[in-house]
Parts: sequence; C-alpha cells; structure tokens
Amino acid sequence: MKGVFDRIPSAYEGAPVTDYGDKIIIPGFCDIHLHAGQLPNMGIGYDCELIDWIGKYAYQVEQSMNALGFAHRCYAKLISDLWLNGITRSVVLGTYYRQTNDLLFQMFMKSGLSAYIGKSVCDRSPTGVADETTENAKQDLLMLADTYKDQKGLVRHILSPTYVPGCTPEIMEFIGHLAQEYDLPVTSHLCENRTEVQEVHRLHPEAPDYASVYREYGLLGQKTTIMAHCIHTTGHEAELLRDCGVYVAHCPHSNLNLSSGVMPLRKYLNMGIRVGLGSDISAGHTLNMMSTMVAAIQGSKMRWMINPQEESVTTREALYLATKGGGSVFGKVGSFEEGYEFDALVIDDGNLYDFTDRTLWERVERFIFRGDDRNIVARYVSGSEVARPQL
Ligand code: FE
Repeated sequence: MKGVFDRIPSAYEGAPVTDYGDKIIIPGFCDIHLHAGQLPNMGIGYDCELIDWIGKYAYQVEQSMNALGFAHRCYAKLISDLWLNGITRSVVLGTYYRQTNDLLFQMFMKSGLSAYIGKSVCDRSPTGVADETTENAKQDLLMLADTYKDQKGLVRHILSPTYVPGCTPEIMEFIGHLAQEYDLPVTSHLCENRTEVQEVHRLHPEAPDYASVYREYGLLGQKTTIMAHCIHTTGHEAELLRDCGVYVAHCPHSNLNLSSGVMPLRKYLNMGIRVGLGSDISAGHTLNMMSTMVAAIQGSKMRWMINPQEESVTTREALYLATKGGGSVFGKVGSFEEGYEFDALVIDDGNLYDFTDRTLWERVERFIFRGDDRNIVARYVSGSEVARPQL
C-alpha cells in the first residue's frame, strides 16, 4: 500500500488502473476465530450451554470430518463462504485428524485467501469423551510443524490447544516448547463459560486463575497469542492479557447463542487490550462479518444499559475491530495506511439507496447494518484480486 491519493502521483503514471466509480472500498475483513470442522452445525443446537454443546454437537460433527471426502466438501464450502463474505484473513481451528488438517492447509493455499491454520488438540475431556491420545497429538503437531515450517506466505501454521479442560499439562507443556522451537503463534479459548472456569479451578488448584495456567505453560503472550471469548476474566487476568499483548477474539454471536455472557468490550478497549472479531462457527451461526459487527455493538449497548459507566462501542469502532483490530494478528493488515498490505473489498451499495444524499460514512454505516455478501463485488488479498475459489 503506497497511499490514498486524490490524483495518481506522477511516479505511478502508466500503472494499470481499475476505476470502481462510486463504489466504496474498505479494508478486507479478518475473522480471528472459527472452527473449520464444525461448518455443518451452523445454526444447530443452541438450546444448551458450552460443555453440553461440546459433548452433544461439536464433538460429533468434528468426528464426521475423519472421512476425507466429506471434509473436502465441507472445507470447499467454508472457503467459498469466507470469500463470499469478504473475509480475506482468518484464524482457523481444524480437527483432531491428521489427514483432514493437511487437506485444510492445501485447500487454503489454492484459494488465494490468507489463514492461520491449527490442529485442534484435545487429549482430555470434561464431557467424558477423550478425542485423542497425548502421544498421537504430539506426533501430529510435530508433523504439521515440520511440514509447514517454511510456509511464510498467506497460509501459515498456528498452535491451537482447544482449552485447558481439554488439554493435559503434558500436552500444554509440549505445545509451549513447540511454539518456541518453531516460532509459532498460539490460539485457544479463555473464560468463555462459568462452568468451564470452575472446571479449570478444579483441575489446576495451584494456579491463581485460568489465564495463569496458559501463561505457566508458555501459551499466553510468549508468542503471538489469540484467546477467544475472555468473558469471565478477573481483574488480574485482564491485566495479563494487556501486559502480555494477547489478542482477544470477541465472538458475540457465539456468546449469545450458548448463553455464555457478554464480553466487557469497552473495558478491554479502554485498558488497551488488543481485540478483533470472530464468528466462532459453529457456536456462531454466520460468517457474515457485518452481522458480527452489529452483534458486538448491540452486546456493548446491553452492557451500557446495565452499567452506565460502560460506554457502548460505536459503529466506527466495530469496523476497526473487524479490519485493523484483528488484522494486526497477521502483520500490517486491515488498513490503507502506507506500508500496509492491500487487502480490500469493493462495495456496491446501490440496492441500499434511500432517496437521500448520504455522506461516505453514512453509506458505510448503512452497509454494516443492512448489507450482505451481495454488496461485495470484488476482493483483494495482499495486492491481488481473488476470484471465487474453485476447490
Ligand atoms: Fe471456539
């Protein structure tokens, strides 16, 4: 990205030009928390809370991804839907299965979209269903780390232990070492649900809180870290998130669907904690980032109504979270400032015309609240236009 100019500077005269007329160009959306293996469950099973939901729904659907042909169909649909919704970058948790994780990497690399991809790790379970043995998890993690260690382009490897109740101390320690040895980022879940937090206290009475367990095993801020949800954090945990430079993936649809709670977004922003947005499919029901932005705004307003000290976030702030907020996980991404990668969406808002002259910002605002994927007419990732992936 060289800059935003009223006229093309003489240095770039002769460069090819695409004129999008009166359409709006915004940075691409970044979804920093979603589960690829749960795609078929979007919109299903929201009448229970997290731990029951994992046992009844998440585990079952991820098991079905062990069939390579089925996984291929689901991943093709996922990547196509990410493209459709203008999500140019994403942080994607895969499954427990070696072959399907490899397939996910290969398919993203063909797509032109950018993603961090991680193998889900779950070698113990509060639901009574252990997904894999510790030894298998170690072997698969090592294989992925070796296979993709030179992958420095748009698709990269991330380490993704599911959550503390789902991971033994042995595997967490292993992953912490792997992050150091292979210089890998880490993503997981933190303080999503009250029962989950109680379970962490039961399993780790030695730790002052949930976040400190991750910190102890080298999984909180020692490398780039993204923690999803962070709803029921203590004051000490929030300070840890800030001081360790952790990114919080705020997933408002998921948090409402599973009755997990409403994250203190304003508090985190005021503290200087880094925040981006996540769909968290399939606990979240849509990849529509405009809908996720609106849910973040509305959740924030709910908190403000209950606690007038907690000012609600604005639509401008929500757009920041969906672009530069989450984009900074990937480097200089999510803005049109000089030096940033050119990830962009071209928006045709003609069908939203309301017989009134609107400012540019009003048009953006209206697109966020009323638009959908049909308004997105072109997508760019790192300077190149990306056609609909044919996978
Ligand atoms: Fe999740």
